[in-house]
Amino acid sequence: MNNSTRDIDSLIELMAKLPGLGPRSARRAVLHLIRKRALMLTPLADLMQTVAVTARECLRCGNIGTADICDICTSHKRATGEICVVEDVADLWAMERSNVFKGRYHVLGGTLSALDSIGPDDLRIPQLLSRIETEDVQEVILAVGATIDGQTTAHYIADQLEGRVKLTSLAQGVPIGGELDYLDDGTITAAMTARKEI
Ligand SMILES: [Zn+2]
Repeated sequence: MNNSTRDIDSLIELMAKLPGLGPRSARRAVLHLIRKRALMLTPLADLMQTVAVTARECLRCGNIGTADICDICTSHKRATGEICVVEDVADLWAMERSNVFKGRYHVLGGTLSALDSIGPDDLRIPQLLSRIETEDVQEVILAVGATIDGQTTAHYIADQLEGRVKLTSLAQGVPIGGELDYLDDGTITAAMTARKEI
């Protein structure tokens, strides 16, 4: 590897590992960044450095932000009585983009999996149960994936919460679990509006 391009090559290699990019897109992106140094590269580098220090999980819901408790959890405009349970932060962000849900969230950080030995304590399930105890929650919407692990997780949570709170799930046929991101806002809205009691 030529010394004079080593850093740039390393940058391309790292960028190529990003979701949705590959070596070809990474090369184009890096070239673009360097050509737009003042407009793109410098602000991006500054922001990355900042976010590398400040990004953290919300202690209450697991959303990613730059404060100990995220904007959604602290907002007075959000309905406190509804918690939407999602697998991943990407699902939460997708739901927010669709603008259909006005309550608060709880990010599990994955699904139960016997194969990968992921149990309830490996996810944010204990934190969810304690929120039901301490917050005035009337409805929990289980917006987890239609996969076997997703459904196992939904059943486990439903068992734990049975009789304590109204339980609903998104309308069937929605592929979720880090995949809400790929749905258009209308589909998410329809699934949320047509949610059913479990
Ligand atoms: Zn939060």
